[in-house]
Amino acid sequence: MTDTPANTQPSAPRNDLSVLTVPAFKDNYLWLIHDGRHAAVVDPGDAAPILAALAEHGLTLTAILLTHHHADHIGGVPALLENARVPVYGPRDDGIADVTHPLAEGDRVTVPELGLELEVLDVPGHTLGHIAYVRRTPGLHWLFCGDTLFAGGCGRLFEGTPVQMAASLEKLAALPEDTEVYCAHEYTLSNLRFAQAVEPGNEALALRVKDESAKRALDVPTVPTSIGLERRTNPFLRYREAEIVGELVKAGKLAEGATPLQAFAALREWKNVF
Ligand code: ZN
Ligand code: FE
Repeated sequence: MTDTPANTQPSAPRNDLSVLTVPAFKDNYLWLIHDGRHAAVVDPGDAAPILAALAEHGLTLTAILLTHHHADHIGGVPALLENARVPVYGPRDDGIADVTHPLAEGDRVTVPELGLELEVLDVPGHTLGHIAYVRRTPGLHWLFCGDTLFAGGCGRLFEGTPVQMAASLEKLAALPEDTEVYCAHEYTLSNLRFAQAVEPGNEALALRVKDESAKRALDVPTVPTSIGLERRTNPFLRYREAEIVGELVKAGKLAEGATPLQAFAALREWKNVF
């Protein structure tokens, strides 16, 4: 091998960040974005498992990122701040007192210790101020979307309307196919049971049910998922499909000739009671 002077090396994008999965409560996932030394936490609903993970991996917390105001996503913030005064990034309009850096669509977050840059998207629906974070790097994209898009499903409409949620999901579905989707709950198998009920003929969905069931049987997370897989199997991104509309009509949940948005609303309501 010949020696190459360092200054002729192409400058590689910084792709040496990883995401650690930190399970919490019954079915939450908290995320630690880290480089082996520093870490940013996404949606720390509980401080104890985050502090344990930081200690275990020898990481220093340098930022907190929040998607929305629900307790299972922000509950650990005060205890984490007692441990380390770090910036708290979060939605501008979701009523979170601890946020030091309020964000809305078009804003960018930079965590210098990690060389981490994130874009902010507004994704109202689950809550009105809900935001999502996107990291774009060549060949690798990450989405942290809280309780908006789930593996095989979507969040409940606690505050927003079906129109808002459908638009938010549409925005996320437009991200590159290979974007890794870090959602905040392990709801996948229950979501997929509903998905199969409304789209029984979807072969990609049937395959996915096998894959994800095998993971859960071994207690392996089904998250992250990908935008491509969600587009192929998630009924809340597929509500225009004739089979889904047909099943909604057949079940008496939707009138013949209804609009796609009415189909989306009917789908979300059905899932609430499924
Ligand atoms: Zn929530
Ligand atoms: Fe949640």
